[in-house]
Amino acid sequence: MSVFNAHFFRQQCYINGCWVDASDQQSAQVTDPATGDIIAQVPLLPATDLEACIVTAEKAGRKWTEQSAEQRSRLLKKWYQLVLEHQPELAELMTREQGKPLTESAAEIAYAASYIEWFAEEALRVQGDIQNGPSADKRSLIIRQPIGLCAAITPWNFPAAMLTRKIAPALAAGCSIIVKPALETPLSALALAALAEQAGIPAGVLNVVTGDGPTLGRVLTQSNRVRKLSFTGSTQTGSLLMAASAQHVQKVSLELGGNAPFIVFADADIERAVKGAIESKFRNAGQTCVCANRIYVHHSIHDEFMQRFKEATQQLVVGNGLKTGTQIGPLINREAVNKVNQQIEDALSKGAKLICGGPAVEADGLWFQPTILTDMQADMRCAQEETFGPLAPIFKFTDDAEVITQANATPFGLAAYFYTQNIDRMWRVAEQLEVGMVGVNTGIISSASAPFGGVKSSGIGREGSRFGLDEYTELKYICLELEGKA
Ligand code: ADP
Repeated sequence: MSVFNAHFFRQQCYINGCWVDASDQQSAQVTDPATGDIIAQVPLLPATDLEACIVTAEKAGRKWTEQSAEQRSRLLKKWYQLVLEHQPELAELMTREQGKPLTESAAEIAYAASYIEWFAEEALRVQGDIQNGPSADKRSLIIRQPIGLCAAITPWNFPAAMLTRKIAPALAAGCSIIVKPALETPLSALALAALAEQAGIPAGVLNVVTGDGPTLGRVLTQSNRVRKLSFTGSTQTGSLLMAASAQHVQKVSLELGGNAPFIVFADADIERAVKGAIESKFRNAGQTCVCANRIYVHHSIHDEFMQRFKEATQQLVVGNGLKTGTQIGPLINREAVNKVNQQIEDALSKGAKLICGGPAVEADGLWFQPTILTDMQADMRCAQEETFGPLAPIFKFTDDAEVITQANATPFGLAAYFYTQNIDRMWRVAEQLEVGMVGVNTGIISSASAPFGGVKSSGIGREGSRFGLDEYTELKYICLELEGKA
């Protein structure tokens, strides 16, 4: 059976428990990046439809807050189970709209589900505090309350996990939410909403709207009913949204671009470092915000690392993600291909050496061979910008202080990775890197139980872990005076 006949396949927005088209009938096409085929049409929702959605979602949120934490937890668990039950079909749908290999799509569905499970459990552990208070007659009670209506704007590179990471804590905290997925990959989001409906999550608590980013973003930031905005995407858009959300002082979380350094010290286990570099660099064809962007290798092991890294890179299979054995799918669109091409050409014009791969030509479509460049310098574009493609630039370094200065010499601060077997260096370097997340001897760091997020221009706030729930609650302090104690 085709995944487009699955009971959760939807081409309409989910608003207040109903599946709806745009009131003006406008729609946008969804294409499969591997074939260029049009696979669906989704509404291009006009601003007025979203304004109406905000009103019903806020109302639904008030009722949802009144349900017990146990009830919210139970419904989230049911949703979690349904997502896992449909993992293979959801994975196929994701590969069709996003391009990543089926194995990665299946892993993302499991990862997305893990956030629902995690926050179903955290829903039961929302905690306040009681303090004695500064004076004999006063007691301080501190409670946590749901922040109110939330909005989430999500990107195309993780069409399921970026949603559940925001929806699950919002719902667990007792908030309703409106999600606007990327227009490139709305089908996974709508499928998740269909399963949430099946799980019994009440109408209006979770809403998914599709449409133009700037149009819908404006409505979400201009409404004083929306109390929280959680965004994952580019630093440029995040910065615009943060400025817009200042109007009503909405609470914002931003998970933005990265430029992760991946450092291989002289005492590293080279085999593990090569494995980690391959995983971190080429997962999702290099289209992840935490993927290794700059690989620094100590000069004493440079040649050995390079030889093994090149061998492993050349074995990667590029192709349609639906085909068994594919490890690298297409890039998301032409713009993405052009950006990687420009970074390669810039580096080559400044003296870099091409080891394998190379710029894609127009006839290659959206396929991009994994590419390695050496003899890299700090003034090259891919040392300064996020790449978001399968390009691995290798920099040589001599001492720790020098490589840490270079690693930190970017406006970004999301993730960093390094390989060493020395415990002193492990602590020192982990503390000196200006990032929100550090992988030591591993290239894969994400987990529902860990706080995900960045510093500097990479964002504000953390997602996942017990800290992830704080973003959807407000602290309230209640001061209690006791009679006869003054
Ligand atoms: P990318 O370059 O990865 O597509 P974007 O930041 O442009 O990153 O997109 C991430 C999400 O932000 C998408 O859902 C997109 O539709 C949305 N978006 C883009 N521009 C705006 C905007 N001006 N206001 C609100 N949302 C936007």
